[in-house]
Amino acid sequence: MEREVRVRFAPSPTGPLHIGGVRTALYNYLFARHHGGKMILRIEDTDSHRFVPGAEDYINEALAWLGIGIDEGVREGGPYGPYKQSERRDIYREHVKMLLDADRAYIAFDTPEQLETKRSAVANFQYDASTRMEMTNSLTLPADEVKRRIDAGEQYVVRFKIEPGRPVEVNDLIRGKVTIKSDILDDKVLYKSADDLPTYHLANIVDDHLMKVSHVIRGEEWLPSAPLHVLLYEAFGWNDTMPQFVHLPLLLKPDGKGKLSKRDGDRLGFPVFPLEWHDPASGNISSGYRESGYLPEAVVNFLALLGWNPGDDTEIMSMQDLIEKFSFEHCSKSGAKFAFEKGKWFNHTYLQNVDDAQLAQMFKPVLREHGVNPNDYSDSYITRVVGMVKGRINFVKDLWDQCAFFFQEPESYDPKAIKKRWSAETPAIMAELIERLNALEDFSSAAAEQPILDWITSKGYHMGNVMNAFRLSVVGECKGPHMFDITELLGREETIRRIRLAIERIKADEPAV
Ligand code: GLU
Repeated sequence: MEREVRVRFAPSPTGPLHIGGVRTALYNYLFARHHGGKMILRIEDTDSHRFVPGAEDYINEALAWLGIGIDEGVREGGPYGPYKQSERRDIYREHVKMLLDADRAYIAFDTPEQLETKRSAVANFQYDASTRMEMTNSLTLPADEVKRRIDAGEQYVVRFKIEPGRPVEVNDLIRGKVTIKSDILDDKVLYKSADDLPTYHLANIVDDHLMKVSHVIRGEEWLPSAPLHVLLYEAFGWNDTMPQFVHLPLLLKPDGKGKLSKRDGDRLGFPVFPLEWHDPASGNISSGYRESGYLPEAVVNFLALLGWNPGDDTEIMSMQDLIEKFSFEHCSKSGAKFAFEKGKWFNHTYLQNVDDAQLAQMFKPVLREHGVNPNDYSDSYITRVVGMVKGRINFVKDLWDQCAFFFQEPESYDPKAIKKRWSAETPAIMAELIERLNALEDFSSAAAEQPILDWITSKGYHMGNVMNAFRLSVVGECKGPHMFDITELLGREETIRRIRLAIERIKADEPAV
């Protein structure tokens, strides 16, 4: 029978979840959902020295924002809890004992100073089969001495006893079969009496086993740990439930040269964290995708394609599409360049699908930031404005640059445009335009356009100059949506008021040619 798909995302709460970690969580989630399996969130907090307050909440909030659902976890509960490793000490203790009893592990008393002395005396020193008999441990000390030291409260670690000369096979769904020789591994520390906690390796595989994890999907940086994990599964006699390993390609710097780091984000101006992070120790703030104006759907879509493709050129995919299409068959082995510009494109594209009325609501805080009270305008006005200009934006905050003139008269007029479009005759033509606009029966875009264009033609005026002077007066520069759509929305009175203002304020630079 096919094994039930159960995957886990197992972050350590040592700081904000990095965007690479988010991608790992996403791939776990897509794989689980694709197979109708379960997604576990396990908090790996056994390294008490690296614990950072707030990091666990941050992880939960980030996953929730992105719509990465968790089936079993600290908050969700589940049949194999607790899902936080610091609450599973008894389980680990029991498993350490199992390995000790089976002679697959041993107790070592070497102090950090002793290990340091050894390291400086022996080049490339490794605590393993070739050296362990020279060290202070339960293999070299008499049993009563070991007991005496423990009873006296001496601190110790438990090390995994790795047999040399054995090939260790790791089957990876993306990388295929990787075989290494056990000799290159050292006798890893599995448990430390000092804090009565296991190390990452032991806790990780004990939990994967007990939580019935079928697939271990994680970043490539964990690949070197995989042979040790295979050996631990074997040492416990759990060969039959060994999970399938999947090591995801690294996220690379945008230019592809090296691993993506936080500094790349600072240097090139893109966030490397899903949410803004306030470092509790330093007070530093790191920017997040959410606060930078990204839609969660766009971030999900962007991340999904960093290392995976659906087998064709499709780019825009909802979470549901991704779930349907996801498989490791189309995951690449090589690193994925973090093409953050593409991320902006995704955001642009997703914003186009946001309903104008909803976009208007999202724009209100931006209006406030610019000193505009959105309550001075009807929702339908703001909705029509954003609908008109959204094609030009990557972020909601960009709307302001595109449409500020709908909320305030021009503060200044583009000097280049003045030079090109505003001559000594322009004020008189603009005055005439005011008359024409006043004479219009219907001021709607569709009704106003033709009579005005006809007037310009009949007078033999230069179409481009007149229309641009008109635009300059109303907008302040020669850009924006269709002119008559703007005037329809601003209304006759405001349009005319602005042309009058421009006539007063703009001094012709030199005659237009
Ligand atoms: N706690 C590890 C981390 O922080 C988990 C690695 C794994 O998935 O095995 O990523």
